[in-house]
Amino acid sequence: MFNPVVFVSLGPGEADLITIKGLKHLQSAQLIYCPATTLPNNKVTSRGSAILSELGIEASKIDLFQVPMSKNRELALQAYREITHRIIQKHQEGLRIAVTVEGDAGFYSSVHYIMDELRERHIPVSQIAGIPAFIACEATAGIHLVKQEEQLQVIPGVIAFESLLKEIREGKVLVIMKTSQCETVIKQVMRELPDHTFHYFENVGVKEKEFYTTDHRQILERAFPYFSLLIIRP
Ligand code: SAH
Repeated sequence: MFNPVVFVSLGPGEADLITIKGLKHLQSAQLIYCPATTLPNNKVTSRGSAILSELGIEASKIDLFQVPMSKNRELALQAYREITHRIIQKHQEGLRIAVTVEGDAGFYSSVHYIMDELRERHIPVSQIAGIPAFIACEATAGIHLVKQEEQLQVIPGVIAFESLLKEIREGKVLVIMKTSQCETVIKQVMRELPDHTFHYFENVGVKEKEFYTTDHRQILERAFPYFSLLIIRP
């Protein structure tokens, strides 16, 4: 009987925030696929691989696969198709395979392309839960994310100025992911609501890179990187 391909959630960036179950799977896997990106300066970066190395996982069993950082979705999809093909081949050899995912594997994670394709080809997959970035952010800020009857809405980077203003005025708790995609709108709304608190985070859990502030001026001055997130409470 073939082992399932296991999608292991790594947590937001701090190695200690992986689950014991996830760690056990990484230790027992014979082959680990981990996404990496080549930056415009040709440097390869991989948050996943940094976490694996901190956890003491042998580098020899890690296969770093490239996911292009491009607005052209088709390029990324092509990369996912290629890696899925490689996984299928190795799976047929009977290896225990893990695929790493930042944060939680089932929360706005692009590895779902790989998972869906494997399922379509009747290859068993399983998923190990992890701590998503917004939960880690909440803990960093020391806030209670939602209380009593409050409703939480997660916005994945695309929202119009009027809609964001409306959601805030309605008193919803908002988590904005991929803030780099709506930086202008967020800053416009912040100028409109100078007395409202905005919790802004970058690289939560990542040593020497973590940043958290509620200071309007500091947020407005920053260029939002890919790993940034906003929490807005009533
Ligand atoms: N599966 C991930 C989310 C992937 S979408 C999870 O469960 O958290 C990518 C977005 O997540 C980023 O644009 C950013 O908004 C957020 N993110 C991921 N890691 C983060 C971190 N360490 N600090 C701040 N935001 C992070």
